[in-house]
Amino acid sequence: MQTTSANHTEPSSPSLDRQSLRPDCGNCFALCCTAFGFSRSADFALDKPAGSPCQNLAADFSCTIHDSLRPRGFRGCTVFDCFGAGQNVSQGFFAGKSWLAYPDIKDEMFSAFKAARRLHEMLWYLADAQARTFDPDSSHRAIQLRNTIEQAVGGELPDLLSLDIQELHSQVRSTLMEVSEEVRASYFATGGDHLDSALKPGADLMGKNLRSRRLCGANLRGAYLIAADLRDSDLSGADLLGADLRDAWLERTDLSKAMYLTQPQLNAARGSRATLLPSDLEVPSHWHDG
Ligand code: SF4
Repeated sequence: MQTTSANHTEPSSPSLDRQSLRPDCGNCFALCCTAFGFSRSADFALDKPAGSPCQNLAADFSCTIHDSLRPRGFRGCTVFDCFGAGQNVSQGFFAGKSWLAYPDIKDEMFSAFKAARRLHEMLWYLADAQARTFDPDSSHRAIQLRNTIEQAVGGELPDLLSLDIQELHSQVRSTLMEVSEEVRASYFATGGDHLDSALKPGADLMGKNLRSRRLCGANLRGAYLIAADLRDSDLSGADLLGADLRDAWLERTDLSKAMYLTQPQLNAARGSRATLLPSDLEVPSHWHDG
Protein backbone atom coordinates (compact mmCIF):
# COMPACT_ATOMS: atom_id res chain seq x y z
CA MET A 1 0.00 0.00 0.00
CA GLN A 2 1.08 3.53 -0.57
CA THR A 3 0.22 6.82 1.01
CA THR A 4 -0.84 8.78 -2.03
CA SER A 5 -4.40 9.86 -2.61
CA ALA A 6 -4.70 8.97 -6.28
CA ASN A 7 -4.16 5.25 -5.85
CA HIS A 8 -3.05 4.01 -2.50
CA THR A 9 -2.95 0.37 -3.44
CA GLU A 10 0.03 -1.50 -4.71
CA PRO A 11 -0.66 -4.63 -6.69
CA SER A 12 -0.26 -7.84 -4.70
CA SER A 13 3.17 -9.33 -5.11
CA PRO A 14 4.18 -12.92 -4.42
CA SER A 15 5.49 -11.72 -1.09
CA LEU A 16 4.65 -8.65 0.95
CA ASP A 17 7.43 -6.39 2.20
CA ARG A 18 6.36 -5.81 5.77
CA GLN A 19 8.36 -2.59 5.89
CA SER A 20 5.32 -1.03 4.21
CA LEU A 21 3.40 -1.91 7.39
CA ARG A 22 5.72 0.05 9.66
CA PRO A 23 4.27 3.26 11.11
CA ASP A 24 5.22 6.57 9.54
CA CYS A 25 4.13 9.08 12.18
CA GLY A 26 5.38 12.02 10.11
CA ASN A 27 2.64 11.28 7.59
CA CYS A 28 -0.12 10.66 10.12
CA PHE A 29 -2.37 13.12 11.94
CA ALA A 30 -1.72 11.47 15.30
CA LEU A 31 -4.74 9.22 14.87
CA CYS A 32 -3.66 6.87 17.66
CA CYS A 33 -3.43 9.85 20.04
CA THR A 34 -6.94 10.92 19.15
CA ALA A 35 -9.24 8.16 17.92
CA PHE A 36 -8.93 5.78 20.86
CA GLY A 37 -10.19 6.31 24.38
CA PHE A 38 -8.18 5.30 27.44
CA SER A 39 -8.90 4.94 31.11
CA ARG A 40 -6.23 5.96 33.54
CA SER A 41 -4.00 2.95 34.21
CA ALA A 42 -0.40 1.86 34.62
CA ASP A 43 -0.05 2.26 30.84
CA PHE A 44 -1.74 5.63 30.41
CA ALA A 45 -1.61 8.24 33.14
CA LEU A 46 -4.92 9.99 32.46
CA ASP A 47 -8.47 9.43 31.29
CA LYS A 48 -8.95 10.28 27.65
CA PRO A 49 -12.27 9.95 25.83
CA ALA A 50 -12.30 8.38 22.36
CA GLY A 51 -12.28 10.90 19.53
CA SER A 52 -10.59 13.68 21.47
CA PRO A 53 -6.92 14.63 21.28
CA CYS A 54 -4.62 13.66 24.11
CA GLN A 55 -3.68 16.66 26.23
CA ASN A 56 0.00 15.98 25.43
CA LEU A 57 -0.56 16.35 21.71
CA ALA A 58 0.92 19.45 20.03
CA ALA A 59 -0.75 21.35 17.20
CA ASP A 60 1.75 19.87 14.72
CA PHE A 61 0.60 16.34 15.75
CA SER A 62 3.77 15.60 17.68
CA CYS A 63 3.85 14.42 21.26
CA THR A 64 5.13 17.03 23.72
CA ILE A 65 6.45 14.34 26.09
CA HIS A 66 7.79 11.95 23.47
CA ASP A 67 11.19 11.62 25.15
CA SER A 68 9.80 10.82 28.57
CA LEU A 69 6.70 8.73 27.93
CA ARG A 70 7.64 5.81 30.18
CA PRO A 71 8.79 7.80 33.21
CA ARG A 72 5.68 9.96 32.97
CA GLY A 73 3.29 7.01 33.00
CA PHE A 74 2.53 6.65 29.29
CA ARG A 75 4.18 3.32 28.67
CA GLY A 76 1.23 2.20 26.53
CA CYS A 77 2.15 4.83 23.94
CA THR A 78 5.58 3.26 23.50
CA VAL A 79 4.01 -0.15 22.94
CA PHE A 80 1.29 0.74 20.43
CA ASP A 81 1.87 0.25 16.71
CA CYS A 82 -0.64 0.97 13.95
CA PHE A 83 0.95 -1.34 11.34
CA GLY A 84 1.04 1.59 8.93
CA ALA A 85 -2.68 2.30 9.11
CA GLY A 86 -2.17 5.86 10.35
CA GLN A 87 -0.34 7.14 7.30
CA ASN A 88 -2.61 5.20 4.96
CA VAL A 89 -5.76 6.75 6.39
CA SER A 90 -4.25 10.24 6.70
CA GLN A 91 -2.64 10.42 3.29
CA GLY A 92 -4.55 7.78 1.34
CA PHE A 93 -8.20 7.79 2.31
CA PHE A 94 -8.24 11.44 3.38
CA ALA A 95 -5.72 12.82 0.91
CA GLY A 96 -3.70 14.74 3.49
CA LYS A 97 -6.67 16.50 5.10
CA SER A 98 -6.40 16.53 8.87
CA TRP A 99 -9.20 16.22 11.41
CA LEU A 100 -7.86 19.42 12.95
CA ALA A 101 -8.26 21.50 9.79
CA TYR A 102 -11.49 19.76 8.77
CA PRO A 103 -13.35 18.81 11.96
CA ASP A 104 -16.35 17.52 10.03
CA ILE A 105 -14.31 14.53 8.77
CA LYS A 106 -13.27 13.54 12.27
CA ASP A 107 -15.75 10.73 12.94
CA GLU A 108 -15.24 9.03 9.61
CA MET A 109 -11.49 9.41 9.83
CA PHE A 110 -11.31 7.83 13.26
CA SER A 111 -13.63 4.99 12.25
CA ALA A 112 -11.51 4.40 9.15
CA PHE A 113 -8.38 4.31 11.28
CA LYS A 114 -9.79 1.73 13.66
CA ALA A 115 -10.89 -0.49 10.76
CA ALA A 116 -7.67 -0.02 8.80
CA ARG A 117 -5.53 -0.77 11.82
CA ARG A 118 -7.14 -4.19 12.21
CA LEU A 119 -6.76 -4.90 8.51
CA HIS A 120 -3.12 -3.81 8.38
CA GLU A 121 -2.39 -6.06 11.33
CA MET A 122 -3.96 -8.98 9.46
CA LEU A 123 -1.69 -8.19 6.50
CA TRP A 124 1.30 -8.37 8.82
CA TYR A 125 0.39 -11.88 9.89
CA LEU A 126 -0.59 -13.04 6.43
CA ALA A 127 2.77 -11.95 5.05
CA ASP A 128 4.42 -14.14 7.65
CA ALA A 129 2.16 -17.10 6.86
CA GLN A 130 2.68 -16.71 3.14
CA ALA A 131 6.45 -16.56 3.49
CA ARG A 132 6.56 -19.73 5.59
CA THR A 133 4.13 -22.15 4.04
CA PHE A 134 5.15 -24.77 1.50
CA ASP A 135 1.55 -25.85 1.03
CA PRO A 136 0.18 -24.42 -2.24
CA ASP A 137 -3.38 -24.37 -0.89
CA SER A 138 -2.42 -22.42 2.21
CA SER A 139 -0.33 -20.09 0.12
CA HIS A 140 -3.24 -19.54 -2.25
CA ARG A 141 -5.61 -18.78 0.64
CA ALA A 142 -3.13 -16.34 2.17
CA ILE A 143 -2.72 -14.54 -1.16
CA GLN A 144 -6.48 -14.35 -1.70
CA LEU A 145 -7.01 -12.88 1.74
CA ARG A 146 -4.20 -10.43 1.17
CA ASN A 147 -5.81 -9.35 -2.08
CA THR A 148 -9.14 -8.77 -0.37
CA ILE A 149 -7.56 -6.77 2.43
CA GLU A 150 -5.27 -4.78 0.15
CA GLN A 151 -8.24 -3.81 -1.96
CA ALA A 152 -10.10 -2.69 1.16
CA VAL A 153 -7.26 -0.60 2.56
CA GLY A 154 -6.42 0.82 -0.84
CA GLY A 155 -9.95 1.39 -2.08
CA GLU A 156 -12.84 3.67 -1.31
CA LEU A 157 -13.79 4.83 2.18
CA PRO A 158 -17.43 3.58 2.13
CA ASP A 159 -16.21 0.10 1.18
CA LEU A 160 -13.74 0.09 4.05
CA LEU A 161 -16.35 1.25 6.54
CA SER A 162 -18.91 -1.33 5.43
CA LEU A 163 -16.52 -4.28 5.36
CA ASP A 164 -17.34 -7.28 7.57
CA ILE A 165 -14.02 -7.24 9.37
CA GLN A 166 -15.05 -9.90 11.85
CA GLU A 167 -15.75 -12.39 9.08
CA LEU A 168 -12.44 -11.57 7.40
CA HIS A 169 -10.70 -11.92 10.72
CA SER A 170 -11.98 -15.45 11.22
CA GLN A 171 -10.86 -16.46 7.73
CA VAL A 172 -7.42 -14.98 8.36
CA ARG A 173 -7.21 -16.69 11.71
CA SER A 174 -7.97 -20.08 10.25
CA THR A 175 -5.29 -19.65 7.57
CA LEU A 176 -2.77 -18.55 10.18
CA MET A 177 -3.54 -21.61 12.29
CA GLU A 178 -3.23 -23.91 9.30
CA VAL A 179 0.23 -22.54 8.48
CA SER A 180 1.20 -22.64 12.12
CA GLU A 181 0.44 -26.38 12.24
CA GLU A 182 2.57 -26.95 9.19
CA VAL A 183 5.52 -24.92 10.44
CA ARG A 184 5.46 -26.29 13.97
CA ALA A 185 5.24 -29.86 12.68
CA SER A 186 8.45 -29.31 10.79
CA TYR A 187 10.22 -28.31 14.00
CA PHE A 188 8.95 -31.31 15.91
CA ALA A 189 10.07 -33.54 13.07
CA THR A 190 13.64 -32.43 13.55
CA GLY A 191 13.68 -33.66 17.13
CA GLY A 192 14.83 -31.70 20.16
CA ASP A 193 13.71 -31.74 23.76
CA HIS A 194 10.14 -32.56 24.74
CA LEU A 195 7.98 -29.53 25.22
CA ASP A 196 6.14 -29.70 28.49
CA SER A 197 2.37 -29.92 28.38
CA ALA A 198 2.00 -26.54 30.09
CA LEU A 199 3.19 -24.86 26.89
CA LYS A 200 -0.10 -24.62 25.07
CA PRO A 201 -2.32 -21.96 23.51
CA GLY A 202 -3.68 -19.50 26.05
CA ALA A 203 -1.56 -20.98 28.86
CA ASP A 204 -0.95 -19.01 32.00
CA LEU A 205 2.84 -18.82 32.00
CA MET A 206 3.13 -15.59 33.95
CA GLY A 207 6.52 -15.33 35.61
CA LYS A 208 7.45 -18.86 34.53
CA ASN A 209 11.07 -19.80 34.26
CA LEU A 210 11.57 -20.82 30.63
CA ARG A 211 15.19 -19.82 30.51
CA SER A 212 17.65 -21.57 28.18
CA ARG A 213 14.94 -23.78 26.71
CA ARG A 214 14.56 -25.07 23.20
CA LEU A 215 10.98 -23.99 22.54
CA CYS A 216 11.10 -24.52 18.78
CA GLY A 217 7.68 -25.21 17.35
CA ALA A 218 5.86 -24.50 20.63
CA ASN A 219 2.27 -23.38 20.30
CA LEU A 220 2.15 -20.31 22.54
CA ARG A 221 -0.71 -18.64 20.72
CA GLY A 222 -2.49 -16.30 23.13
CA ALA A 223 -0.33 -17.47 26.06
CA TYR A 224 0.20 -15.20 29.04
CA LEU A 225 3.96 -14.85 29.15
CA ILE A 226 3.89 -11.74 31.32
CA ALA A 227 7.27 -11.42 33.07
CA ALA A 228 8.22 -14.94 31.95
CA ASP A 229 11.93 -15.61 31.76
CA LEU A 230 12.74 -16.57 28.19
CA ARG A 231 16.36 -15.49 28.26
CA ASP A 232 18.73 -17.57 26.12
CA SER A 233 15.83 -19.64 24.77
CA ASP A 234 15.18 -20.55 21.16
CA LEU A 235 11.66 -19.83 19.89
CA SER A 236 12.23 -20.67 16.25
CA GLY A 237 8.96 -21.75 14.71
CA ALA A 238 7.05 -21.00 17.91
CA ASP A 239 3.57 -19.58 17.33
CA LEU A 240 3.34 -16.32 19.29
CA LEU A 241 0.09 -15.04 17.80
CA GLY A 242 -1.42 -12.73 20.39
CA ALA A 243 0.92 -13.95 23.15
CA ASP A 244 1.18 -11.44 25.97
CA LEU A 245 4.88 -10.66 26.35
CA ARG A 246 4.56 -7.75 28.75
CA ASP A 247 7.74 -7.52 30.79
CA ALA A 248 8.90 -10.91 29.52
CA TRP A 249 12.67 -11.26 29.71
CA LEU A 250 14.05 -11.68 26.22
CA GLU A 251 17.77 -11.06 26.58
CA ARG A 252 19.65 -13.26 24.09
CA THR A 253 16.39 -15.02 23.17
CA ASP A 254 16.30 -16.26 19.59
CA LEU A 255 13.11 -14.85 18.10
CA SER A 256 14.51 -14.55 14.60
CA LYS A 257 12.20 -17.26 13.26
CA ALA A 258 9.33 -16.94 15.75
CA MET A 259 5.94 -16.96 14.06
CA TYR A 260 3.45 -14.08 14.12
CA LEU A 261 5.63 -11.87 16.28
CA THR A 262 4.79 -8.16 16.21
CA GLN A 263 6.48 -4.92 17.18
CA PRO A 264 3.95 -4.16 19.97
CA GLN A 265 4.80 -7.51 21.60
CA LEU A 266 8.49 -6.59 21.57
CA ASN A 267 7.81 -3.05 22.73
CA ALA A 268 6.03 -4.45 25.78
CA ALA A 269 8.86 -6.84 26.67
CA ARG A 270 12.33 -6.41 28.11
CA GLY A 271 15.29 -7.31 25.99
CA SER A 272 18.60 -6.16 24.67
CA ARG A 273 20.49 -5.73 21.46
CA ALA A 274 21.62 -9.32 21.90
CA THR A 275 18.04 -10.54 21.35
CA LEU A 276 17.72 -12.08 17.91
CA LEU A 277 14.79 -10.61 15.97
CA PRO A 278 13.24 -11.06 12.53
CA SER A 279 14.86 -8.60 10.12
CA ASP A 280 11.70 -6.50 9.74
CA LEU A 281 11.27 -5.84 13.45
CA GLU A 282 13.21 -3.25 15.43
CA VAL A 283 14.98 -3.32 18.75
CA PRO A 284 12.73 -1.16 21.00
CA SER A 285 14.45 2.01 22.16
CA HIS A 286 14.06 1.13 25.85
CA TRP A 287 15.95 -2.18 25.52
CA HIS A 288 19.49 -2.11 26.82
CA ASP A 289 22.71 -2.67 24.93
CA GLY A 290 24.06 -5.73 26.73
S1 SF4 B 1 1.08 10.87 25.53
FE1 SF4 B 1 1.91 11.50 23.56
S2 SF4 B 1 2.04 9.59 22.33
FE2 SF4 B 1 0.68 9.20 24.08
S3 SF4 B 1 -1.39 9.59 23.30
FE3 SF4 B 1 -0.65 11.48 24.27
S4 SF4 B 1 0.25 12.66 22.60
FE4 SF4 B 1 0.06 10.55 21.88
